[in-house]
Amino acid sequence: SLTTVKQPLTIRLCGPRGFCAGVDRAIQIVVLALKEFGAPVYVRHEIVHNRYVVEGLEAKGAIFVEELDEIPPEHRKQPVVFSAHGVPKSVPADAESRNLFYLDATCPLVSKVHKQAMRHNRLGRHVVLIGHAGHPEVIGTMGQLPEGTVSLIETIEDVDAYEPADPDNLGFVTQTTLSVDDTAGVIKRLHERFPNLTAPAADSICYATTNRQEAVKQAAPGCDLFLIVGAPNSSNSKRLVEVASRAGAKASFLVQRAAEIDWSQMDGVRTVGLSAGASAPEVIVNEIIEAFRERFDARVELADTVEENENFLVNRELRHVPLTTS
Ligand code: SF4
Repeated sequence: SLTTVKQPLTIRLCGPRGFCAGVDRAIQIVVLALKEFGAPVYVRHEIVHNRYVVEGLEAKGAIFVEELDEIPPEHRKQPVVFSAHGVPKSVPADAESRNLFYLDATCPLVSKVHKQAMRHNRLGRHVVLIGHAGHPEVIGTMGQLPEGTVSLIETIEDVDAYEPADPDNLGFVTQTTLSVDDTAGVIKRLHERFPNLTAPAADSICYATTNRQEAVKQAAPGCDLFLIVGAPNSSNSKRLVEVASRAGAKASFLVQRAAEIDWSQMDGVRTVGLSAGASAPEVIVNEIIEAFRERFDARVELADTVEENENFLVNRELRHVPLTTS
């Protein structure tokens, strides 16, 4: 007969997962700017690292550019939004020199790191930034200060090789989306090598990164497979894949859409962990659950840890614009 019995399968759905308050705010800023000022609204860099989100905003009239000189002169009066990752100081300066109207969607928790770095600098400290080279947040944080006043450290090996001019006058900050465990190791080594290092009260890894990693860590033991919804250029999503494997999942992968799932790898898989990076929308989580239900007798088990209540206000210029939910 053509009838096949679906295999039972458990999906361990992590919470918190997906959108954080900074991503939610950045998307709201673009949506509200479109409502208030009409299309097009320019966005410098992917507003958040997710194709689905970017394409959804493009359909509403947003135009994504990498640099401000891509904005045609006839659209100078239209707003340009800076992404949630933050920008070097040269970017708003460039916007002002071009007479552009900009809306900064930098996450307030990234702005806080910028302020910490500037404070170190003001107090005469050389800044050590723990982060991943090339990530826009790192470029933005380094760009708050003059060249040569910030050193980027990625690993414990980098700490060992680091020879600062004045080892007794260092202060550190971190990228917001790092691995909690790896960063603790790097900071420990920094303190060992530089006992006079000025430390903030804590690293600058944000609440959303911390909570998503902790939830995956708790859910991973016993999972045959762990899927993280997120983009290959999303730092916090990639860290979740690593956390899942280290915490005991037999395999873990990043997926952008259900269509990317390799079903030939599902032999013998009975428990699947599922979470989503801070820039990944819930519709894709649901799409993946549905894809499993088509092929398995799938049961969703909620693996919730803490509740999140963070919510960040949009820019003053947009607070009067009503936000319709759709
Ligand atoms: Fe802000 Fe953290 Fe979200 Fe980044 S991941 S946008 S720092 S809340």
